[in-house]
Amino acid sequence: MTMRAIVIHAPHDLRIEDRASPGAPGAGEVRVAVARGGICGSDLHYYHHGGFGNVRLREPMALGHEVAGVVEAVGPGVAGLGPGDKVAVNPSRPCGDCAYCREGLRNQCAEMRFNGSAMRFPHEQGLFQALLTVPATQAVRLAPGTDLAQAACAEPLAVCLHAVRRAGRLLGARVLVSGAGPIGCLMALAATRAGAQEVIVTDLAAAPLAIARALGVSRTINLATDPGGLEKLAAGKGTVDCLFECSGAPAAFASALALVRPQGRLMLVGLGAEVSLPLAAPVTKELQIAGSFRFDAEFALAADLIDRGAVDLAPLITHSLPAARAAEAFEIASDRSRAMKVQLDFTTD
Ligand code: ZN
Repeated sequence: MTMRAIVIHAPHDLRIEDRASPGAPGAGEVRVAVARGGICGSDLHYYHHGGFGNVRLREPMALGHEVAGVVEAVGPGVAGLGPGDKVAVNPSRPCGDCAYCREGLRNQCAEMRFNGSAMRFPHEQGLFQALLTVPATQAVRLAPGTDLAQAACAEPLAVCLHAVRRAGRLLGARVLVSGAGPIGCLMALAATRAGAQEVIVTDLAAAPLAIARALGVSRTINLATDPGGLEKLAAGKGTVDCLFECSGAPAAFASALALVRPQGRLMLVGLGAEVSLPLAAPVTKELQIAGSFRFDAEFALAADLIDRGAVDLAPLITHSLPAARAAEAFEIASDRSRAMKVQLDFTTD
């Protein structure tokens, strides 16, 4: 038996391959029939550039780390999951035994295995495979009525919930989210749930800002058509309590420093920008600048919020294509003017 996998070989060499189906799940494992898989920015980096920073593809790798599906079989010793159960699959597998894991910093695990990542060699294969065998601990059970397309967004929502945790208290705060991509939009939702009084989202394009509004964000600023839109927020020494930088755009960093009020927080969530920052403002305004990377317990929390309908992520999912049209889906996902979250559907041909 074979099954379909979406495998990157080199930049723009994305192949739909038949791979051997995984056998019966071993002890503590479950086999999952993947239903939906969301294309993420890092998948696009592998697709367009073969990697990012010093992370490079060195062998073919199945992409994907945002999936949800249905349990097909369970191995010996698995409790609480059975065939037919809907699940969201957590792509993060910390070792549990290194110094960081033992002190509770599991997202910083020194031996982290993260699906669809070329950081290690052999690469950790991704989740864009019609059938997956994973440890049962990676499969979060969902209610029978849960929408698997939304459930496949648990991973990026978990990233944002972790950033909220890193940011600390947001109750009553004025929050600005720079960049209205999928992470920026989910960041706005997460900050709202954490009690922010006002959440403002900025971007340079109209389409993603419209989706942010559809998700419930009340105030958006298009910096392309309204370049002075931030002036009031920069009044005095700045008026934003906490700014989540999700754009990764160098220009956004410098303006962020002017917007954040004294002793306010600048959270870096977007990855990859290399910028030179004038450090006078962070010193004289006593800013707190912190990074946020991946997640740990927040994955189960994200899955639970989606499962209970506490968040409605439907406006985020702009496209769903059969997995057989993966290359087309990756091209659509690369065009911010028309796509937000593009998903692959593994249940149709
Ligand atoms: Zn570890």
